[in-house]
Amino acid sequence: MDISLLRKHRRNTPEVMVGKIGIGADNPVRVQSMTNTPTSDYGATAHQIIELHEAGSELVRFTVMDDAYAQAIPKIKNILEEEGYGCIPLVGDFHFNGHLLLKRHPDCAQTLDKYRINPGNVGFGTRHDENFKLMIGCAIDNRKPVRIGVNAGSLDQEVLSRLMDENTKKPAAERKSADAILVDAMVASAIESAKKAEQFGLGKNRLVLSVKVSNVPQMVASYRMLAEKTDYALHLGLTEAGIGAKGTISSAAALSGLLQQGIGDTIRVSLTPTPESSRTEEVKAAQQILQANGIRSFMPQVTSCPGCGRTSSTLFQSIAKEISAYLQAMAPEWKKAGYSGFESMTVAVMGCVVNGPGESRHANIGLSLPGVGEDPLSPVFVDGRPYARLRGESRIADFKKMIDAYVKEHYQAELQNGNNSLS
Ligand code: SF4
Repeated sequence: MDISLLRKHRRNTPEVMVGKIGIGADNPVRVQSMTNTPTSDYGATAHQIIELHEAGSELVRFTVMDDAYAQAIPKIKNILEEEGYGCIPLVGDFHFNGHLLLKRHPDCAQTLDKYRINPGNVGFGTRHDENFKLMIGCAIDNRKPVRIGVNAGSLDQEVLSRLMDENTKKPAAERKSADAILVDAMVASAIESAKKAEQFGLGKNRLVLSVKVSNVPQMVASYRMLAEKTDYALHLGLTEAGIGAKGTISSAAALSGLLQQGIGDTIRVSLTPTPESSRTEEVKAAQQILQANGIRSFMPQVTSCPGCGRTSSTLFQSIAKEISAYLQAMAPEWKKAGYSGFESMTVAVMGCVVNGPGESRHANIGLSLPGVGEDPLSPVFVDGRPYARLRGESRIADFKKMIDAYVKEHYQAELQNGNNSLS
């Protein structure tokens, strides 16, 4: 089954080019992330950009908060070019003083592939419009796209106050809650800023919008409203998603419904990393969200049951873990060898005869382990048909060899003639 059919038609947007990467229109939903090194430490930042890119981040953002950070941008680009990564689109994140930095550092303005502008902190009153115009002018002069990145934590207070005042003047029965006004204000701030940017001369094909908030229902409501009102390309993200499972699950909950509705052209998962974990975790989480929604494939997936009283030992759990690690380790090797299409492969590892054979038949290749009191032989299914029966200590090694052979047999064919029987 073509699982993309489960997803509604993708919302139409202009194509926005960020360096050589297209966002919106018919482009795949892009994965992006952000560094957490001081940008002025250009060596560390360049290497984290490479690390994030190698993990799958198609564009990488970093903060530009003062002169030292702005001066580091061309140096970062030089390192990336020297190391063969000059193609990674670089996004500068500006707050409070972006108008000054972009003007004072033309090399920075020219080197960046996109500017992120937060309309909530470009100044107040007339200064707001002047500063905003200056940054948009810089984008026009340098032919760069801009993300109008609204964030609930730094929302334009003039827009919020205006909507609050309008709301209080309404009859009590028509008044909205403060939460609903926050959503309205974020969307209004994004659209009003984008319209101003267009009036100043920046084309719609150079604008991406985002309306981030840390509350899942508010985030979903904001993007739905934005998608209904405009056709700008959208950057989706739940801001300050949090740490560990909470951050990943909240982001998945927020992004999945929108993506299934065809809303969203690029995503970022804003995880708080634990001190011992890699920044690349947020890239893997973003890829997993897209893959779980049937939108893009990045890595072969293991389908495994949770186990229950029918599983005879922890053997089933260790095999599921080992096969998962094997796929993670082999994917770069298969890619390097030129195989393509294996990213959408599913491998089942099931705990007993109840659902084991059935689920294994639905996978490309599946292993059904014996549950309590069952025949110790473990049937393997390939493309839905019984293929072999494994037993004993060599079971895992034998199954790995079968997976490797499956990739080489099925995906080499796709590489050579573009025809894959699995598709
Ligand atoms: S497949 Fe078997 S072991 Fe796994 S959860 Fe279902 S009944 Fe339990």
